[in-house]
Amino acid sequence: MTSILALDQGTTSSRALMVHQDGRVLGSAQYEFKQHFPAPGWVEHDPRDLFDTLLQAARDAIAAAGERPVAIGITNQRETTVLWDRRTLEPVGPAIVWQDRRTAARCAELKALGAEPMVRRKTGLLIDPYFSATKLETMLRDPEIRRRAGRGELAFGTVDAWIVANLTGGDRHVTDPTNASRTMLYSLEAAAFDAELLALFGIPPELLPAIVPSSGILGESRPGLLGAPIPIAGIAGDQQAALFGQGCVAAGMAKNTYGTGAFLLFYAGETVPVPPAGLLATVACNPAGGAGYALEGSVFIAGAVMQWLRDGIGVLGSAAESEALAASVPDTGGVSFVPAFVGLGSPYWEPEARGIVTGLSRGTTRAHLVRAALESIAHSSRELLETMEAGTGLSVPRLRVDGGAAKNDWLMQFQADLSGVPVERPDLAETTALGAAALAGLAVGTWSGVAEFGSTRRYRTFTPRMAESERRLNLRAWERAVSTALHWARA
Ligand code: ADP
Repeated sequence: MTSILALDQGTTSSRALMVHQDGRVLGSAQYEFKQHFPAPGWVEHDPRDLFDTLLQAARDAIAAAGERPVAIGITNQRETTVLWDRRTLEPVGPAIVWQDRRTAARCAELKALGAEPMVRRKTGLLIDPYFSATKLETMLRDPEIRRRAGRGELAFGTVDAWIVANLTGGDRHVTDPTNASRTMLYSLEAAAFDAELLALFGIPPELLPAIVPSSGILGESRPGLLGAPIPIAGIAGDQQAALFGQGCVAAGMAKNTYGTGAFLLFYAGETVPVPPAGLLATVACNPAGGAGYALEGSVFIAGAVMQWLRDGIGVLGSAAESEALAASVPDTGGVSFVPAFVGLGSPYWEPEARGIVTGLSRGTTRAHLVRAALESIAHSSRELLETMEAGTGLSVPRLRVDGGAAKNDWLMQFQADLSGVPVERPDLAETTALGAAALAGLAVGTWSGVAEFGSTRRYRTFTPRMAESERRLNLRAWERAVSTALHWARA
């Protein structure tokens, strides 16, 4: 019997899980790292923190399991942009995180220049600061960095590539198609980085990683890092890994992940789909771990609103406390909270939006505010589901869920009530890491297929039970609040 080391480098923490062939988690560890907010709308990480915390988690998980893994699978926060020295592996500056809005003006300019139709046709994305291209373009505005890039000294990568570079001591500079499809430099049809897109953003091609399959041995970790060299056999962006880990590999299956943001992915099959308005098309993994496609709706702030209530304004002791607080009041007392801290994603795509709270009164309490924040997570997810169904003409029969905030029973029940579909939560919420383990395990023969891998999962179902009149009142309140946020952004 064998086990796989799943490495999950997330937005707020780095995690490692030792996943046994029979589906059990033999050991796990997790470390948070520092978030940097140097200006309003800016979000940075120290790339070294990302690798150091991940390596520590990996060592702890292996020690807890008491055995050595046969392969490593990597999953990661997507779009976050890292630029480093190829030889020394020294980052040239902070990682610009996916949530960072500093390139909003540049994106508006590109749209005004009429670049969006070409970008959308090729990449399946929209021009938005979210994706890596304008982040990298901004890094390259520094003349010294541009010179070094021109001399071939630097390497660009999303976080997967940065982790692999560090694990292999700089031997491998690679990414996988799921991550590449989030850079806004990758053509879905050509399955390659695209010269016209590189020219649009002024990106020298020699900065780019090679693209390797999501499932397949691509190198091995340096002997000193994890006790012995271990094959690195899988890579996928966190949302695609979760889709795979949830077993959503048949057209029409969907999952929603409630982490820092919320991401609803709908597996679309093996031909490139045309994304409906407000949604993205992106590379996902087919049942064999090869390239398939998904439609995606992205909400930038979900669980992060709980972090803000806890760390930003101190009204929560912990995110988990939100559950009892929300249940302690019958409703929000008229309060709506649109946590558009870094702009609005799907389906609005308004980078200039910021958070608002509406309907405050003398009677508003901490419990009302916290409940409104939790409700906002469910409302944004409901909007993703509705946009997906309207755009595809298909109805999603049930929603599989995962991510940190999916642990919140109150939120999951409210989600089922609001969306009118059963919500299914697996017994193990770490589907992102499981997806990475599955991709690596398929490559080294630990599992024969995703069906074998998924056969051990059990689900808890939350069934809709809210009265339709109450549901409608809730929707109306949210619509008023969002239209107010959009008005503020555009006024
Ligand atoms: P990521 O991978 O994006 O770092 P996770 O999947 O680990 O995120 O989820 C962490 C997020 O979930 C945090 O933003 C946290 O505030 C939120 N969270 C964790 N537990 C709860 C809870 N019980 N209720 C609501 N939100 C929660």
